[in-house]
Amino acid sequence: MSQKRTSLERFRLKRVLDALAYKEGRGTELVSLYVPPGRQISEVVQMLKEEWGTASNIKSNTTRKNVQDAIIKTIQRVKLFKRVPDSGLVVFCGAIPQNGLGSEKMETYVVTPPEPINIYLYRCDSRFHIEHLMDLLKEKEAFGILLVDSSGATFATLKGRRLEIVQEITSGIPGKHRAGGQSARRFERAREAQVVEFFKRVGEHANDVFLSIPELKGLILGGPGPTKFDFEKGRFLDYRLKEKIIATMDTAYTGEQGVEETVERAPEIIRNIRYVEEKRIVQKFLYEIGHDTGLATYGEREIRRALKSGSVDTLFLSESLDKTRAEVECTSCGYTYQKTMGSSEIPDFELSLSSKSCQECGVSTLSIAEEKDIIEELAEIAEQSGSEVEIVSTETEEGQMLWKSFGGIAATLRYKLTNH
Ligand SMILES: [Zn+2]
Repeated sequence: MSQKRTSLERFRLKRVLDALAYKEGRGTELVSLYVPPGRQISEVVQMLKEEWGTASNIKSNTTRKNVQDAIIKTIQRVKLFKRVPDSGLVVFCGAIPQNGLGSEKMETYVVTPPEPINIYLYRCDSRFHIEHLMDLLKEKEAFGILLVDSSGATFATLKGRRLEIVQEITSGIPGKHRAGGQSARRFERAREAQVVEFFKRVGEHANDVFLSIPELKGLILGGPGPTKFDFEKGRFLDYRLKEKIIATMDTAYTGEQGVEETVERAPEIIRNIRYVEEKRIVQKFLYEIGHDTGLATYGEREIRRALKSGSVDTLFLSESLDKTRAEVECTSCGYTYQKTMGSSEIPDFELSLSSKSCQECGVSTLSIAEEKDIIEELAEIAEQSGSEVEIVSTETEEGQMLWKSFGGIAATLRYKLTNH
């Protein structure tokens, strides 16, 4: 799997977790299981069997039955794997009331995390323990922190919420005040030369520390006073790192204290980057549309056509889209057709089908055979044809435009489509 977490992967995991977050059991009877990579399936099954045994002590008949059923179901799902996937395995299972008490139905969710999980956990509770996967959703890219002033420099990395101070160096540069007897000009020149030497060293260390991080998303430059700006202006930092400077901020200190100061303000900066990134990708689409280049299109029908021809470069889908693609099937003759509608319209549509007759055979045996979230459905088609997929929020002006002016479905194209 690539290191880069795409907006689509994030979206998919988030959807599952959002759905699970609201599920509640009657009592303490929902099973959450996290298995990290490297564990043996047999070991996990053994542990679950012991939990099944322990559950026989539960006094309430219903709860006991539900817990034991959930454990058995979990064992069955775990056993389907020959080995634990490289990123681990997560199973949620339990009886969920569908429509008031007594309407419980066993629901099972198997999640292969998009990134390795390092937790081995079995929990039986009235809710699913999704928080460890939520953490994963937050832990995305790595950021570098470089603090510099005339006395020294500090190199740190921030990966998700993991902070590591990688290195600290001192400059050895004397203060600005010369010792008695020294010529002022000579002192200044010597000091300037020392600063340049120090900046070179900082640049070399920065290259060593930060260039080796493939998922480095940005570099935050900080420190007290103007030294950081002098450093930034010079050619001491590799151009690949220079491009990644996302913020230059004043901190009261270098060293650990300065790093902590930076991290406190980092979430805001990091959120801004995501905004900027989102603005940039949507702007590309807006440019093509605005200049009428023929290299962009929008609207569900046009997008389906473009996807079918394989001409989509990047597909943009607004997070606000709440539509379902339903496949209607005639059970008499097998005729099928697809229809897109607001997700909340599905029940009414389903009812209306009973009074309609099939346009092929005329019998009233139409029913919904499949329902799919339109984001998932279009994303899958795009993935199959090698197109990029971007799920865009409505938190930026550009994201709002994509949603309000273009219906939330748009694409940039690899080549112009001929008119129909
Ligand atoms: Zn029919």
